[in-house]
Amino acid sequence: MAVADSHCHLDLAGPAEAALSVDEALATSSAVGVTRIVQIGCDLPGARWAVDTANRHPQIVAGVSLHPNEAPRLAQHGTLDEALAEIDLLAAHRVVRAVGETGLDHFRTGPEGRADQEASFRAHIEMAKRHGKVLVIHDRDAHEDVLRVLEESGAPDRVVFHCFSGDVAMAAHCVRRGWWLSFAGTVTFKNAVGLREALAATPLDRLLVETDAPYLTPMPYRGRPNASYLVPHTVRAMAEVLEVGEDALCTAIAANTDAAFGSW
Ligand SMILES: [Zn+2]
Ligand SMILES: [Zn+2]
Repeated sequence: MAVADSHCHLDLAGPAEAALSVDEALATSSAVGVTRIVQIGCDLPGARWAVDTANRHPQIVAGVSLHPNEAPRLAQHGTLDEALAEIDLLAAHRVVRAVGETGLDHFRTGPEGRADQEASFRAHIEMAKRHGKVLVIHDRDAHEDVLRVLEESGAPDRVVFHCFSGDVAMAAHCVRRGWWLSFAGTVTFKNAVGLREALAATPLDRLLVETDAPYLTPMPYRGRPNASYLVPHTVRAMAEVLEVGEDALCTAIAANTDAAFGSW
């Protein structure tokens, strides 16, 4: 069964000796049934690259954004607004299916950057709605504030929580709101008991799978750079937690990916 990697950074592939070219990444992932990739661009060069790469590879679609940790840096240099304006232009491309990753990161950005981070998040929400694209959320140690901003701004029709990291109550909230929860290699980590409880409480029709490559490599390969060909390890762990067959889970994930991002 084929699945899509719903969140990948092919342009951040790690040290040169470990990095896969786009063609190698697609060949190795397709060989294990990961036939499609959502490439997420997190700054202006990354967003331009994502659009260009998606244009050249039919297996790839793009998300464009200024990462929540990038926005305060740009604001400091006085260039956040013009960078957002270019993201807005890129978001109109046919191969761009997502606005994001955007959201809040209270882990890497301190209190001094939070107002700019939130302003950027709100601008991305507005773009997702205006362009009719799915909003991909990055939420690190900021669950309550992410939910607050989403409700205050009015969430777009389609929302994905990338690398979902909430608990059972947060998962239930997202499910009630009709959002998707994308699980990464973190769900295979030994200490991720609460995350697996959240996964177990999530219905099949709300689930996506991702690498966030080159980060968050699933067990037993933790420590080496992540890539889409390792998605089956995460899918297997998810199927065990959910007590469903891998085929049934892959069928659901493939359908959910199309529902969230549109088919490709
Ligand atoms: Zn992220
Ligand atoms: Zn990411």
